[in-house]
Amino acid sequence: MIELVELTKRYGSTLAVDGLSFEVRPGVVTGFLGPNGAGKSTTMRMMLGLHRPTSGRALVGGRRYDEIRHPLHEVGAVLDADAAHPGRTAFVHLACLARSNGISRARVHTVLEQVGLSNVADKRVGGFSLGMRQRLGIAGALLGDPGVVILDEPVNGLDAAGIRWIRSTLRALAAQGRTVLLSSHLMSEMAVTVDRVLIIGKGRLIEDTSVAEMRDRFERDVLVRTPRAAALTTVITRLGATVTTTGDGDLIAVGVDAPAIGDAAAAAGIPVHGLTPRSATLEDVYLQMTDEAAEYRASTEGIAR
Ligand code: ADP
Repeated sequence: MIELVELTKRYGSTLAVDGLSFEVRPGVVTGFLGPNGAGKSTTMRMMLGLHRPTSGRALVGGRRYDEIRHPLHEVGAVLDADAAHPGRTAFVHLACLARSNGISRARVHTVLEQVGLSNVADKRVGGFSLGMRQRLGIAGALLGDPGVVILDEPVNGLDAAGIRWIRSTLRALAAQGRTVLLSSHLMSEMAVTVDRVLIIGKGRLIEDTSVAEMRDRFERDVLVRTPRAAALTTVITRLGATVTTTGDGDLIAVGVDAPAIGDAAAAAGIPVHGLTPRSATLEDVYLQMTDEAAEYRASTEGIAR
């Protein structure tokens, strides 16, 4: 498990991470989300002992990273897909990492197999595509069979097949009972990959919730199709709904849920041909949550003309 207690990092006048406290639990994939500059990388670097917190603590399995004797056995991380030397082969890169933590060469072959790079094990990393470099990074993270896996923006720049591979790999790791944390600045990418989300903005925690809760919380309205729109409008307005009409003659009801509308229509003998609860997309919800905290905002003025 990863535990942050009032974690804070200041760079001169910039408060990059501002009193963050949360837990990342095993068995699920947790997404660490926030706009660019929100403090995600800084937080992950503190979890991995690469930056010293100004105050507060980041603990992995109850200890600070720099207190762990053979860290690859406890925490696997990919902060940068380009961390491997381009002149080394995939095998040599992993063998060096393995050696530093007392891990066997046989294990190197196992992880290369696991990430699907066995047939390029003896090729130089410099010739690898971004997707292959991401796979190599993950192979390195898995070398010590760690209980915690931390990935910074692992799907950035990947093609659809690469994203699908990362998604299924992370789900499998979580299903084995590991703690899996990955960061992203895109909600759409995360919605299908993670179970829980931790959303930060300007170094502060905005949300700690599940993707399912996030969807439920932002149900917006119900689209109703009926040949007797006027009659149904009267009935559901009585239930307390606010009703508007679309250009196609469908009704949009706010303030009552779909089952209540269906029941009321049935009781009044009004036929209903369609009843669709609609929610804001997760991307809408996320942008709304983080709008205040976005550090960089593009102006569309001038482009729209
Ligand atoms: P994210 O990963 O969410 O995009 P970062 O953790 O990279 O955000 O950055 C958080 C804030 O800290 C930003 O304002 C960034 O400019 C600042 N920052 C990050 N690293 C440094 C550094 N080494 N020196 C000074 N400021 C930094």
